[in-house]
Amino acid sequence: MKYLLFVYSFLNLLISLTGCGSDRNANVEDAGCLAETLIEDQVMGTAVHMVLYSDELNKSQLDKAAAEALEEIKRVERLMSSWVEDSDVSRINAAKKGEWVEIDRSTIDVLANAMLIGAITNKAFDITVSPLVDLWGFGAKSKGPFSIPSDEEISEAMRTVGHGKVLLDIGNSAVSLAEEGMTIDLGGIAKGYAVDRALSVLYKNGVDQAMVEVGGEVGVIGKNKDREKWCIGVRHPLKRGNFLTVLELENEFVGTSGDYENFFVVDGVRYSHIIDPRTGRPTTSNITSVTVVGTSCAKVDALATGFSVLQYEDSIKILESLPDIEGIIVRRAGDGELDIYVSEGLRRKIRLLEPATTK
Ligand code: AMP
Ligand code: MG
Repeated sequence: MKYLLFVYSFLNLLISLTGCGSDRNANVEDAGCLAETLIEDQVMGTAVHMVLYSDELNKSQLDKAAAEALEEIKRVERLMSSWVEDSDVSRINAAKKGEWVEIDRSTIDVLANAMLIGAITNKAFDITVSPLVDLWGFGAKSKGPFSIPSDEEISEAMRTVGHGKVLLDIGNSAVSLAEEGMTIDLGGIAKGYAVDRALSVLYKNGVDQAMVEVGGEVGVIGKNKDREKWCIGVRHPLKRGNFLTVLELENEFVGTSGDYENFFVVDGVRYSHIIDPRTGRPTTSNITSVTVVGTSCAKVDALATGFSVLQYEDSIKILESLPDIEGIIVRRAGDGELDIYVSEGLRRKIRLLEPATTK
C-alpha cells in the first residue's frame, strides 16, 4: 500500500503531500494533469518548503509564482532579521533612545501585530525580550556558548523590557524605542508573517493549491495533490518520530512552538529559547509543545510562542476565548506523562494518538 508519496519532515510538523492515510493510488493517477512545482531553500536561518499544484496554470507559470513567493520571503528576511546588518530591525536596534526610525510598511505591520498579540497574551509575547534572548545565548548578539547569566545581568536586561516602551507612528511608518540599550527581536512572529506574504503572492498569481512552510510555520491554499485537505502531522514532543495527531487543513495556517528543539540543560534543568518577559528567564511553564491553527500565520506563530510562556491553564483560557483560533497545548506532567489539551473546536476534527486531558 502506498501510504505517503512525499513526506516533508520539519521541526514540529510533518506534512504529507497526498492523502492522510488510505490508499491514494487512484487519486494520484487522476491528478496526473496537474502541473507541480516543489521548492526547498534556506531563508531566515531556517528551512523553507513550497509545494504548488495547478490544473489552470502551466509549469512555467507555476515556477514563476513560486520564485516570486520565495523572493517575498527573502524580502521579509532582509527587513526583519536581526542577523542582517541593515535590516529594519537592525537599524531600529542601533538607533539612539527616542530616535525615530523610518521602516517599511511590512515591518510596521508586524510590529503592530506583535503589540496586539502581546495584549492578547497578557504580555507573555513580547518582542522587547531581545536583550534577554541574547543574554541567554539564543540571539544574534549572543557571546559564546550557553551559560546561565547572573541575577544582575538579568535585572539590567529587564530594564528595557515592555511593549509600552515601543512607540509606533503608523501613519509615518516609523518606530522609536524609549530606553537606552533597548532592542527588539521578531524571531517569534516574522517567519509566520513571511508565510502570510508568500501565500498572498501565490494567490495574486492565480495559484489555488499550495503549501508554504518557513521554519515550522505553515500555510495552505486549497487542496493537496489528491484534491483533499492538506495533512499536517504534529510531532510527539517526547517520542521522536511519533505523532500526536494529524491536522487536515484547507486555507488555514498552523504555528508551532516547543521547548524540545532549541534549549540547553545545566544540572538537569532545561533552559528553553522562549523567555518569560515577567522573569527575564526561560519559561518554566512546562509547556512542551503548542500548535495553533487560524487564518493569519503571523498571528498563530506569535500566539504559539506566547502560549509557551504562560501557565497551561492561562494559555487554555486565552485559546478558548479567541473565536477564530484553535489549538493543542501540551504540558510535561512529570514521570514522562503529558497533559494534552485540544481546543473545543478542534476536538471533533482530529483523532489524538494519545488520550487527551480535558482539564
Ligand atoms: P518560536 O520558535 O516561533 O516560538 O519563536 C521563538 C523565538 O521568539 C525565539 O528564538 C526568540 O527569538 C523569540 N522570543 C523568545 N521569547 C519570546 C517572547 N516571550 N515573546 C516574543 N518573542 C520571543
Ligand atoms: Mg512563534
